[in-house]
Amino acid sequence: MARHEVVVVGAGLAGQRAALAAVEAGRDVAIVSKLHPLRSHSGAAQGGINAAVGAEDSVETHIFDTVKGSDYLGDQDAIEFFCREAGPTVVEMEHFGTIFSRAPDGSLARRPFGGAHFPRTIYAADRTGLALLQALWERLGSERFTLYEEWDLTNVVVRDGRVQGIVAFDRQKGDFAEIAASAVVLATGPSGRIYAHTTNAHSCTGDGVAAAYAAGAALKDMEFVQFHPTALLESSILITEGARGEGGVLTNASGEKFMVRYAPHVKDLASRDVVSRAIVTEVQEGRGFTGPYGPYVHLELMALGRERIESRLQEICDFARRFAGIDPVTQPIPIYPAQHYMMGGIGTNARGETSVAGLFAAGEAACVSIHGANRLGGNSLLETLVFGKQAGLAAAAYAEGAPAPAMRATDLEEATAPLRRWSSRTDGEDPSALRAELQATMERYAGIYRNEADLMEGIRRVRALKARFERVRVVDRSSVYNLNLTDALETGHMIELAETIVVGAYARTESRGAHARTDFPARDDARWMQHTIARRTPEGPNLSYAPVGYTRWAPTERVY
Ligand SMILES: Cc1cc2nc3c(=O)[nH]c(=O)nc-3n(C[C@H](O)[C@H](O)[C@H](O)COP(=O)(O)OP(=O)(O)OC[C@H]3O[C@@H](n4cnc5c(N)ncnc54)[C@H](O)[C@@H]3O)c2cc1C
Repeated sequence: MARHEVVVVGAGLAGQRAALAAVEAGRDVAIVSKLHPLRSHSGAAQGGINAAVGAEDSVETHIFDTVKGSDYLGDQDAIEFFCREAGPTVVEMEHFGTIFSRAPDGSLARRPFGGAHFPRTIYAADRTGLALLQALWERLGSERFTLYEEWDLTNVVVRDGRVQGIVAFDRQKGDFAEIAASAVVLATGPSGRIYAHTTNAHSCTGDGVAAAYAAGAALKDMEFVQFHPTALLESSILITEGARGEGGVLTNASGEKFMVRYAPHVKDLASRDVVSRAIVTEVQEGRGFTGPYGPYVHLELMALGRERIESRLQEICDFARRFAGIDPVTQPIPIYPAQHYMMGGIGTNARGETSVAGLFAAGEAACVSIHGANRLGGNSLLETLVFGKQAGLAAAAYAEGAPAPAMRATDLEEATAPLRRWSSRTDGEDPSALRAELQATMERYAGIYRNEADLMEGIRRVRALKARFERVRVVDRSSVYNLNLTDALETGHMIELAETIVVGAYARTESRGAHARTDFPARDDARWMQHTIARRTPEGPNLSYAPVGYTRWAPTERVY
């Protein structure tokens, strides 16, 4: 049985940063990843990473913008730490070799992003994530740790109140295996594929969050789902907020720049929840366009001119040309909001510690929470690095003092017996059909606007899918790259997480950040300035509530 002191699951920015910290602390580290590390979704990030480095900007303003953006659900103590780490983190990434775009005077170029008082988003054209990921990968150095590539985590093994290791499916061999570990860091990234329209890659299925939940860890604030205002129609490929940061504007079917009616001060650069709701309202009130791929509005970049569009927004220019047949230099881009980010995740503190001893989490899979009810653009890349490092340090320190992991020979058998039954069934449910139904259900009943009746129906439908999943069947019997089996694994994870989203959203009778209830349109601080905590029971999620970390910023009405 393989054995390591620290096992990091996930090789995106959060996982790699955690691994680097643990390696530098002298631990024996393994990374387990279902993708090649450089194919992680972090590499798709376009717009940039936030740090208050300019003379006019300040860490204080970054803190305030993040607290306000979170609609006062973010933990202010964690946000203060996070924003103070921003400058040093970006400088460190530059020293690791990230080639950031430059201003004419040679300093780091910065672009305005939604919900920020100053241009604070540092970027590498519109390929920031890939630039960071490549630099970090080279710094980490593949000889300093063991890589289990194309291994899918299925279970976190917890016994005697602490982590003993993990069980994973090795895609190349087509079999399950266990790895004993004193400390496990989950950095498995997004779960946006729970929704039909998402900017997230196909691999973003919430596996680590579901494994933590199954192992008894508490999930936090799962009902807060961010929809990005500008996804390309049909494919839902992201058109970065940087496009509006550079001067792009949203227009409706009469050519009106409508954001002025929703956010009179900052207009198109209001925070994402505000802009997404404005687009849906335009469409619902008959001022949008309709086409074969559904309703949409326009994002106009034409006024920026060819030179600026093609140099600063190269990649999205290419996407619009290839995937929508639109040339943004001369034509408006058809867009509509799509799921983009999960504010919720595995509950952690600012050291990445979860409610289970020896289990740590970081990146989009975790919820510290610094994003609260709504994440600001550019804060997530930063989060992966700041809290990835913290989780790696904490896991390394824990592993140093922890007793040797006590995996048993029967752990593998117990964890995988139910999964092996999927392949021995002669009839049962097709995982891809269940996945498609789940995605349509979540889009329809737990989307941008929510209400009691829809959420009730959403709960009923998700639970019906969960019951049907009990009889899931894997038809493909091959042992090499059995994608039918990995599809089933992922679908099961997504159904579990979807239940925590709809149940949490149904219970929260207020509107805050990305959670907009038409039947409870106001924010209710007296009752709801609290984190939702979800724990798994055989009957479904058991909800409880925890206070928000509060330091200096009293909640006020959020206007942009
Ligand atoms: C299109 C797009 C653009 C974005 N642009 C920006 C931006 O400009 N600025 C910003 O701040 N944020 C942006 N974000 C958000 C940000 O990029 C992500 O939140 C962040 O990169 C997530 O990093 P991560 O390390 O947590 O996860 P990821 O980078 O997704 O890595 C997850 C890792 O987990 C592994 N994994 C998953 N499941 C398993 C399993 N079962 N077993 C083993 N391994 C597993 C994967 O192989 C992968 O290596 C964007 C997101 C998207 C989708």
